[in-house]
Amino acid sequence: MFASVLVDTRKRSRAVIGTALLGWAMFLGGTAQPARAAECPGNPNALGTSRTLVVDPTEHPRIGTMQYRETLPLADHEVVLTFDDGPLPKYSNQVLAILASQCIKATFFTIGSQARANPEGVRKLAAAGHTIGTHTQTHPLTMNKMPIERARQEIDDGIASTLAALNGDRSKLAPFFRIPGLMRAEGVENYLASRGIQTWSADFPADDWRHISPQRVYDLAIQRIEAHHKGILLLHDIQPRTVAALPRILNELKARGYRIVHVVPATPDRPATPTEPQQWFMHPPSETIAVSRWPRIPNFVYTARKTLPAPVFSALDWRDAEALDHAQRARIGQPHQALWPQPHVAQGNPVSTLAVPAASVFRIPEGESLTLLATRSHANHGVAQAATATARQAKGARRTAHLPPGASRGKARPAPQHAEQSDRSAGAVRLASLKKRAPRAEATAIPKRVPD
Ligand SMILES: [Zn+2]
Repeated sequence: MFASVLVDTRKRSRAVIGTALLGWAMFLGGTAQPARAAECPGNPNALGTSRTLVVDPTEHPRIGTMQYRETLPLADHEVVLTFDDGPLPKYSNQVLAILASQCIKATFFTIGSQARANPEGVRKLAAAGHTIGTHTQTHPLTMNKMPIERARQEIDDGIASTLAALNGDRSKLAPFFRIPGLMRAEGVENYLASRGIQTWSADFPADDWRHISPQRVYDLAIQRIEAHHKGILLLHDIQPRTVAALPRILNELKARGYRIVHVVPATPDRPATPTEPQQWFMHPPSETIAVSRWPRIPNFVYTARKTLPAPVFSALDWRDAEALDHAQRARIGQPHQALWPQPHVAQGNPVSTLAVPAASVFRIPEGESLTLLATRSHANHGVAQAATATARQAKGARRTAHLPPGASRGKARPAPQHAEQSDRSAGAVRLASLKKRAPRAEATAIPKRVPD
């Protein structure tokens, strides 16, 4: 992608490109070669520092895609290492030793109070050639909501303390700042920008401040770097798990073809590395990806809501049932007609308007009753047999037509004992039928109420 951008740029303006091409050539080629490893004494397999990137904080005041649109203009497989919260000799010195063994240059964001307590630790950072930024005086995790005056004081004091440890040598202190806990606030960032200080977020942490194992720190670091293929890694030089994980992280980055970039601030004697604006994005806008040109947050315009007055009842035709229905619902504030069918509510009292059915309607001859019972219990073979016999005895031969097909066709040939049963009264048959049906109904109903 960068190569195509370069080609496009070259087409646009050959005159301006001279210096940019030089920067690109350095970016893409020579300095990234493993030849640097040979320059690392005692470690021919060192990861090394592939190049130095000079940035102008005033041109790009906020970086790190964890919070901002822009990040450092890194090429594919380039990583910048950052360490916060030191110096704390016990662990910071080990981190320094690990980085030295790999000839790696990193950026440290020191806490003012730590610098006061361990000024020698700050001087060690400078002596090793690392970049030193600051991280407030007392590391408050409330910069997103504290009064701006207090935030300014934290920033100023942190810088003053670190500078004091460096014996006032401003050339050894970079105008780089990281907000504790990344608790960003517009006022804080604006203040930093007004002082020409670059606010550094990160592209990915490794969660090494959490109570996790060094193995987990290693896994997160590698996974997140691999997810982006480049970027700023946030670590801490005050954690034993970081010290334990760091050698493996560096070896793995080397094995996977990653390169370490050292970042320093521009000065009058050291101009910023030429870059194109799109390089400052993790995923540069492309002519082929239209969506990247869209605003991040759409500016929706909401129209004011209006409440329409309820219709006047007198304006409606009461003979129109639908209009009446609408009017009634509008009055009582019910929602609009749903799409699914609504249950019909009968108007009036049916008891007072319907005729009482005659008693003869419910009168059923004894023989008919038996036949119906037998029909309903057709699933029970024995009952069907009994019913067949009883119905025959009741001289209702024609009524056997109402029996189930199996029974009427004589499938159930009555055995002698069945014939004896059939001589019993119709009432006995009815009772037997009910007794057999009732337990079955319960047996099927109860399990439905018991969870499986
Ligand atoms: Zn911190």
